[in-house]
Amino acid sequence: MKKLIYLDYASTTPIDQRVLEKMNNYFTIDGIFGNSSASNYLGIKTKNEIENARINIANIIGSKQEEIFFTSSATESINLAIKGIIYSYFTNKKKYIITSNMEHKSVLETCNFLKKLGIKIIYMTNSNTGILDLILLDNKIINQTILVSIMHINNEIGTINNIETIGNICKKKNVFFHVDATQSIGKYSLNLKKMNIDLLSFSSHKFYGPKGIGVLYVKKKSKIILTPLLHGGGQEKGLRSGTLATHQIIGMSTALIIANNEIKQEKKRIKILKKKFWNGIKNISGIYLNGNFKNSSPYIINIGFKNIFNKILMLEMKNIIISSSSACNSNKYNISHVLRALGLKKELIQSSIRISFGRFTTEEEIIFLIKKLHIIIKKIRQN
Ligand code: PLP
Repeated sequence: MKKLIYLDYASTTPIDQRVLEKMNNYFTIDGIFGNSSASNYLGIKTKNEIENARINIANIIGSKQEEIFFTSSATESINLAIKGIIYSYFTNKKKYIITSNMEHKSVLETCNFLKKLGIKIIYMTNSNTGILDLILLDNKIINQTILVSIMHINNEIGTINNIETIGNICKKKNVFFHVDATQSIGKYSLNLKKMNIDLLSFSSHKFYGPKGIGVLYVKKKSKIILTPLLHGGGQEKGLRSGTLATHQIIGMSTALIIANNEIKQEKKRIKILKKKFWNGIKNISGIYLNGNFKNSSPYIINIGFKNIFNKILMLEMKNIIISSSSACNSNKYNISHVLRALGLKKELIQSSIRISFGRFTTEEEIIFLIKKLHIIIKKIRQN
């Protein structure tokens, strides 16, 4: 077996070699390293490269070139989307945001921050399947609601929300709809032209592109006025000042093109691997599945083993890289808010692990993982 078996792709992915090679043309004196705001020859050349990348990204997600805004991360895009809307549209009569208690911390903490400014936050609770109840959502949207922010795919349990229908509900109720699509872009084909999504956030390091670059999609037809968070040179039509990171943008666009070209075959391959994995372990005593298998992303599985502390299990896994919950949770919080929102007791949350599959996951690795889990669980239980 290889030295490292990486099964934490939902946390981040390694850069694809092809992406890295392409990025290398944008750093040095021989490369296209200019400032895209400059009106000299190199600046114009750099700007052209960036605009081509913007067009590529737009084409893949079914948007217009001018609807794509570059940021540093999904976190920044999410902050810009939510705060940008609130700063522009908040009044005494319009002060509600609806989100769910299973969102990523970048959404929840942004809402928490806004709460201190007088914004009312309504948290949708999900059923124990982890999927948002759309009838309940429809009923929760009232005249004072400005924005609904819901994720497409949950990063911890992989459950999939029906963003198309949520978009239709929001349109009918005349509220803005923001989607955190960080776990779906590059893995799921979206055609934003056909969807009632006003704002959508994602970042490149989830699909084998570089870290430090993200996108905020802003639907032109929705005529949204977003208040910028960063002021300065007026780049990105004044919405996000700061010299554009050419190499990162090219890296993201190249990575998305590659992911998109392989999207169908890859999903089929990973689906088979996830099934093989689950079939290989589902008979281990005391095992439980968090979320549901049917309506979830093939790339993520969250399971637990009763009376086995996940931190001990992870230590025993040694060179097999998995996660006890999302990367942010495992750094700062001990208990996963997503599993808590699912209704799990503390002991079960602390016995849960997330395994996420990706481009370099092989059948051989899955077979090895199954064997290893059987051995480790037995060993821990015997001690
Ligand atoms: N949203 C979701 C669903 C995520 O999984 C993540 C990262 O794990 C983020 C937002 C934040 O992404 P970034 O690290 O690019 O800011």
